[in-house]
Amino acid sequence: MSHPDYYKILGVPRSASEEDIKKAYRKLARKHHPDLNPGDTKAEAEFKKLAEANDVLSDAEKRKNYDTYGDPAGPGAQVPPGFQQGGGFAFEDIFAGFGGRPVRHGPERGEDLLHAVRLGFREAFEGTRLNLRVNRSEPCMACRGTGEANRKPEVCRTCQGKGKLGSGSGFLSFGRSCPDCGGRGSRLPACPDCDGAGRHARQETVTIAIPAGVEDGARLRVAGKGEAGRRGGGPGDLFLQISMEPDARFERKGPNLYVRLPISFSEAALGAKVVVPTPEGHQTIKVPPGTQTGAKLRLKGQGMPIPRGTQRGDLIAEVVVVTPHIQDEKSKDLLRELAELNDAELQKQRGADHG
Ligand SMILES: [Zn+2]
Ligand SMILES: [Zn+2]
Repeated sequence: MSHPDYYKILGVPRSASEEDIKKAYRKLARKHHPDLNPGDTKAEAEFKKLAEANDVLSDAEKRKNYDTYGDPAGPGAQVPPGFQQGGGFAFEDIFAGFGGRPVRHGPERGEDLLHAVRLGFREAFEGTRLNLRVNRSEPCMACRGTGEANRKPEVCRTCQGKGKLGSGSGFLSFGRSCPDCGGRGSRLPACPDCDGAGRHARQETVTIAIPAGVEDGARLRVAGKGEAGRRGGGPGDLFLQISMEPDARFERKGPNLYVRLPISFSEAALGAKVVVPTPEGHQTIKVPPGTQTGAKLRLKGQGMPIPRGTQRGDLIAEVVVVTPHIQDEKSKDLLRELAELNDAELQKQRGADHG
């Protein structure tokens, strides 16, 4: 997936500080926010681009990945298109320092949440069930998620009932619609139960089945376990960002597993049956006579399970021929004898190589 130039979108240099990025985003996001430009699809598209750029550049790790690999998810990772880390569109963020909680009218879906999960080899191989404690929210029952008390409207304090914010007077007056009351000049008092938030924070234990064979860098979605929506909007989703602890024996490349297989000089020369570790124990593998270092011996179907399937990848044993440290005279004599019988061909090849 290719990514746009996020620095250009926010109009900041690549050397911009965290503070510069935050400022640039706030400034542009206020200008293009869909609530201030109702029905303006261009502003909406612009706002989405800004939110994406901010999501990447304000997160140290994503920014580093983006700078290094051109992809905020890092090398070879997959990010579902359009995914925003929780709060990417948080309205309050943009208007922080602007005073007041803005009023929005339609139902609003809850934000997505992102949790990092680190798995050991065994958990990834067998699959596992995780009980994850998640800080999420649920709609306020008292106000049904509106954040407003069921009382008489009050004069909006942000705009003092004018419905507009701005400067100047007379016929040169500038103003924009008050974000706190939506330009009406009045608003309902905040719900005393949730203090106007429309929802309550709570901690929930979410049980999640991790499929066998899950890949490093995978993002799993748990529908409906994100933040509560507002005014009847549905909840966001919970995303799990999977990473793998490295294993001492097996190196994983997609569904295949690689294992180092040291063999002796005589096993390599004469051929042998040797024991290879597999994820489930051990298996005997045949080393053919004349095997070299770097040879790959494949055990079909002994690798990682492929998620949501019945197949498995392969286990690949990478041969390393271990040169013996000879101490005793008898072995030395035997090797010299062996050299006399066998090394002529190789010496001739080396001679030819060097002209
Ligand atoms: Zn409430
Ligand atoms: Zn107002």
